Amino acid sequence: MFQHEKCPLCGHSKFQPFLSCKDYTVSNEAFQIVSCENCSFKFTNPIPELSQIGNYYKSEDYISHSNTKKGLISKLYHFVRNYTLKQKLSLVSNHVPHGTILDYGCGTGMFLNICQNNGWKTLGIEPDEGARKIASEMGLEVVSDKSQISKAKKFNAITLWHVLEHVYDLNETLTFFSEQLEQNGVLIIAVPNHKSYDAKLYKEFWAAYDVPRHLYHFEKKTMGQLLLKFGFTLVETKPMKFDSFYVSLLSEKYKHGRTNYLSAFWTGLKSNFAAKKAENYSSVIYVFKKK
Ligand SMILES: [Zn+2]
Repeated sequence: MFQHEKCPLCGHSKFQPFLSCKDYTVSNEAFQIVSCENCSFKFTNPIPELSQIGNYYKSEDYISHSNTKKGLISKLYHFVRNYTLKQKLSLVSNHVPHGTILDYGCGTGMFLNICQNNGWKTLGIEPDEGARKIASEMGLEVVSDKSQISKAKKFNAITLWHVLEHVYDLNETLTFFSEQLEQNGVLIIAVPNHKSYDAKLYKEFWAAYDVPRHLYHFEKKTMGQLLLKFGFTLVETKPMKFDSFYVSLLSEKYKHGRTNYLSAFWTGLKSNFAAKKAENYSSVIYVFKKK
């Protein structure tokens, strides 16, 4: 196991216990989430070593990287994904009309595919070999690691759709984005929000804690502080309104041992309604620009 001695955000060395969560999808092991005493950043600590983390992604339930369509949750996920892909593209295009886009953690390349079909030059980074293969079969250029990208290569947009919470070398990766982004380019980061209504309701059963795969647990304040270190300012945030339903469905299963569609649907609705005022949606898209 790897133990963080310093807060990945501010470098402070004292943490408070925040939550003890179980890995419901793969190992059934318990993992601790701590809160930095100085900046209140929440992160899983300790975490499996980088060489071991691959073992925690081995599950039929872990559908982000595959295109399986088994089960109602998975079917719903795929339906919503097609709808949200278009929304994601229009969000990027609203800030930068065209150019070169990097999708970091692109999975099977679904988002890059729609970008390419709409005139973008695309590049993907994806560590999973199987997912990379599917992406390249669609005619997409995808590399396994950021070290394979030339320093001279610049991007007009960089996107991370539910990826930053999985990234081991957080500070190095954000430095890389800062160096590779063109002036006036956008960095778009979507992550779960532990300040949401559904997170507070389900507590340690909240599916988007997803330990140990989720290494960090973001909220608006810490996300802003983190990106500021790398010269980025927050331009706008957007809700991901479907995530409250999907996450509540999984959380119901973790908490009660069975899938309760009605209860999850109700919680999802309440979460989106509660978020209207404080903008604490279950998942949030952050749009950053370089200062
Ligand atoms: Zn801190």
